[in-house]
Amino acid sequence: MPEGHTIHRLAQDHTARFAGRPVRVSSPQGRFAESAALLDGRTLESAEAHGKHLFLELGDAWIHIHLGLFGKLGFGPAPAPPATDTVRLRLANGDHWADLRGPTACALLGEGEKKAIHERLGPDPLRPDDDPDRAWKRISRSRTSVAALLMDQKVIAGVGNVYRAEVLFRHGIDPYRLGKDLTRAQWDAIWADLVGLMREGVRNNRIDTVRDEHLPEAMGRPPRVDDHGGEVYVYRRANMPCHVCGGEIRTAGLAARNLFWCPHCQIR
Ligand SMILES: [Zn+2]
Repeated sequence: MPEGHTIHRLAQDHTARFAGRPVRVSSPQGRFAESAALLDGRTLESAEAHGKHLFLELGDAWIHIHLGLFGKLGFGPAPAPPATDTVRLRLANGDHWADLRGPTACALLGEGEKKAIHERLGPDPLRPDDDPDRAWKRISRSRTSVAALLMDQKVIAGVGNVYRAEVLFRHGIDPYRLGKDLTRAQWDAIWADLVGLMREGVRNNRIDTVRDEHLPEAMGRPPRVDDHGGEVYVYRRANMPCHVCGGEIRTAGLAARNLFWCPHCQIR
């Protein structure tokens, strides 16, 4: 499942290619055909993301997209290739096309329905106006582990399995620590760090969380080889040596996903 930085990057990609111009909207697969016909030829006003949700504004309506586990968005220069029947949504103008395949959600929403989605999501570190206090109110009275809370999109939106593991490592926090036992200072540091890390993630379109002194060049170690790319401290590094203490990284199931952490470094 892509994390929030990927969806914010996709919003930027749509804005760069389509915003401010009329766009052809179609659904070669047919499952979005009625809505596509209604929107076809409208101007794409804006694109935005909240957590793992993408919203495209066309006149007084929004297309709401959630990629889920298997959804993919691909872009290319015009002319668009012949559409196959796996394309749920195609956007095209004279210069670009974008194809959406296999999403969990692709729906036409009015303003009120869109607002309802925002309201059920927690604050997103990548939305400049979002308020970390909203998340803190839930975390500070929760008997759930901080590792599970970070994955709960109602608490904080956009953080996935990589960012949760890495941000807890970077702050030395035991992933099993309960939300109510986290200090306000720890939460503020986690939020601020997520803002920085995820912004960098949008820029580079990948997740890097390792400080300069722990980069391969600085440590004289080989770079990480993983289809997620990027240098990380603990994610998918089970049984490997910690870059900081040399101890063994551990893994366990938590909130339906594999958690990774260093039991020597994460003791706070
Ligand atoms: Zn360690």
